[in-house]
Amino acid sequence: MEIILSPKLIRLESELLHQKQIRISVLRLDTLHSQISGNKYFKLKYNLEEAQKRGNTKVLTFGGAYSNHIYATAAAAQMLGLESIGIIRGERREPLNATLAFAQKSGMHLHFVSREAYRQKDQTDFKASLQGQFGDFYLIPEGGSNAFALEGLKEILGLIKDDFQYIGTACGTGATMAGLMLGLKAPQKVIGFSALKGGGFLWEDMKVLLQDYFHQYTQVGGIESLDVWMRTRAELMLEYHFGGYAKNKPELRQFISDFEAAQQIPIEWIYTGKMFFGLLDLVKKDYFKAQSHIVALHTGGLRG
Ligand SMILES: *Cc1c(COP(=O)(O)O)cnc(C)c1O
Repeated sequence: MEIILSPKLIRLESELLHQKQIRISVLRLDTLHSQISGNKYFKLKYNLEEAQKRGNTKVLTFGGAYSNHIYATAAAAQMLGLESIGIIRGERREPLNATLAFAQKSGMHLHFVSREAYRQKDQTDFKASLQGQFGDFYLIPEGGSNAFALEGLKEILGLIKDDFQYIGTACGTGATMAGLMLGLKAPQKVIGFSALKGGGFLWEDMKVLLQDYFHQYTQVGGIESLDVWMRTRAELMLEYHFGGYAKNKPELRQFISDFEAAQQIPIEWIYTGKMFFGLLDLVKKDYFKAQSHIVALHTGGLRG
């Protein structure tokens, strides 16, 4: 699954940025592909390659009813001629929403499980019962986030030809942020904006992902003080969640419509809206030195 990778880097124009002498450029990953948008392509790339290497003809993954990852996995599996199974949190509701209807139309078998059962998804017993039901499959974790994902996400940095000091991203599982850490050249830093409330777990989750990555991809099998390594590469913002995942706040709505009108770049209120709000708020608060160049990742999340 190779798609042509030449995302545009678009400079934001605003009075505030001009006045503070800060450059923000948006890396439009959302325009890479109509169905496998944004960061999800990079997460799936080596996972699907691995599935094929292992001779698996079936992939199984997990997500909520509005999951961009479910949507992208269904599309990518269909492109590659793989069967796909989506374990969906919660009850089946008819008619299916747009995400699930698309996934099903793309050939994904949707299997709904209760919230309680879904919470067991990382347990061996649960996996064994899925194997009993669906036979052999290649398992992609929730959000597509694992060491293979990090290897793909790391490649995002190779798409940026300009010099920059910071790269901003929205965070769900933190895999995108962790992948960016791997591809940066110090003293460049990634700034992550948590879309979830109480994102304190994110740092620990990223640590686990990075440990797995180092075990899988490097001989050293890990680095000694991972915390220090991470802190020199990353800053995590937990104050821009607007009430939590998929909570719809008027202030954020207003920001998004103003932003879209001024920049002609569509964004949404679950992930990218929060990141842009946060970045511009940090600019206001003089978080960045004058003349800094910040690349903001448009991780997608919108569908035509
Ligand atoms: C999935 C998603 C994210 C979150 O990525 P993580 O790697 O899980 O942190 C961010 N933005 C958009 C648009 C997404 O769909």
